[in-house]
Amino acid sequence: MPIGYWESEHLLAPADLTVIGAGIVGMSTALHYKALHPHDRVRIIERDVLGEGGTTRNAGFACFGGPGEWLDDLETLGQSKWLELIRLRAEGLRALIELLGEKALGLEWSGGWELFAASPSGKKRSDEAGQNLALLNDAVQPLMASILGHLAPNPLDTPALIYSPSRAAQFGAHSCIHLPWEGMLHTGRMVSAFHRALQVADIQCLNGCTASSLEAPSAPDGPWSICTPRGVLESKSIAICTNGFAKEVLPEAEVAPAPNRVLVVRPVQMPPQGAYHIEDGYLYFRTLPDGHVLFGGGRHFGVELPPFPQRDEKAEARWDALLESAAAQWLGPIDSVSHRWTGWLGVGSDREPLIGSTALGLHHAVRMGGMGVAMGCGLGLQLALNISAEGHNKGQR
Ligand SMILES: Cc1cc2nc3c(=O)[nH]c(=O)nc-3n(C[C@H](O)[C@H](O)[C@H](O)COP(=O)(O)OP(=O)(O)OC[C@H]3O[C@@H](n4cnc5c(N)ncnc54)[C@H](O)[C@@H]3O)c2cc1C
Repeated sequence: MPIGYWESEHLLAPADLTVIGAGIVGMSTALHYKALHPHDRVRIIERDVLGEGGTTRNAGFACFGGPGEWLDDLETLGQSKWLELIRLRAEGLRALIELLGEKALGLEWSGGWELFAASPSGKKRSDEAGQNLALLNDAVQPLMASILGHLAPNPLDTPALIYSPSRAAQFGAHSCIHLPWEGMLHTGRMVSAFHRALQVADIQCLNGCTASSLEAPSAPDGPWSICTPRGVLESKSIAICTNGFAKEVLPEAEVAPAPNRVLVVRPVQMPPQGAYHIEDGYLYFRTLPDGHVLFGGGRHFGVELPPFPQRDEKAEARWDALLESAAAQWLGPIDSVSHRWTGWLGVGSDREPLIGSTALGLHHAVRMGGMGVAMGCGLGLQLALNISAEGHNKGQR
């Protein structure tokens, strides 16, 4: 559709920064950038009504992983990169709380628990976690205390990991490790709080607007062109925040979309309040305020779903049957399943996010894995600072 006068002159006038993708990372980037440059025109373009990635469809764990997942990361990344990931998660959570406030996020410092099944593989993993408990604790505890100590209700010397035999017994698990620095937030309220903040900050958000391709400036100081079904939009800088879908506009990004299924179940007996990790984080569940439990994950089941936005209902049903059986194993008999959905992660060869720039004015922060609730706002802050610093160097502002 050709762009009309009022649109080109005002509504869709060239922006200083256009963020592609209205997930946690995109909205955080826009808000942090606008706070640094209140007079700049900041626009977000989002192809869905609300967002189609992970931001409106996640489990709301305000978490840093757990010992099972950490042992994997230690092996693939080594100690310093693994610890850097934990730092990004804790700093991201702090940035999110500072940006929107605990109350608006519906954040509860409920604590988390990693459950190890009374199966041969569960016992083996539990032993490995036990052998490394001191190492993990010594590395993670100071980070939690220094980054979250003033926010979480824990005394500063609270360990990162504590054995909880009573919780293990409640679930018939081989063992259970408590993560006292973890919390749970209300994903819906978090997204609403972002929307309110965008409005207050006078950031334009165009929903139903897909960036189909990007064209580099034709002159050294010229704008980037963003091709959309609404016409070509111009912008001095672009922030690509489309996570798993980034390759569509940034082919060189080493990231792919990966589906994750989630159920909301009503168990006959509610588990104790909290957020739970199982099987190295590939399965997880958390209590909801209304007597339901969100139970999700299962990427390791190996059920293939077609690429977004296609659907294969039979494959979804196979995945859900495996999730329901895992839910019954951990929660006991299930009365009913009220919700089933797929959310999309952005994954790569390891769990490190990708943040950087591929050309002057073209920036990205993508590949949040299963941890974008925790990391996303901090990466949005970093991305806003990067864009701002580039503008400074160019002498634009
Ligand atoms: C089921 C599930 C459970 C999860 N649970 C947790 C959890 O408990 N804790 C945690 O820390 N993390 C969790 N995550 C991960 C977390 O939700 C994500 O890492 C995070 O939301 C990613 O945010 P984002 O802004 O990078 O991307 P997204 O939320 O994926 O947003 C990207 C947006 O870009 C839009 N977009 C894509 N392409 C285009 C285009 N070409 N033009 C315009 N718009 C485009 C999409 O519509 C999408 O809205 C979970 C994820 C899933 C799927």
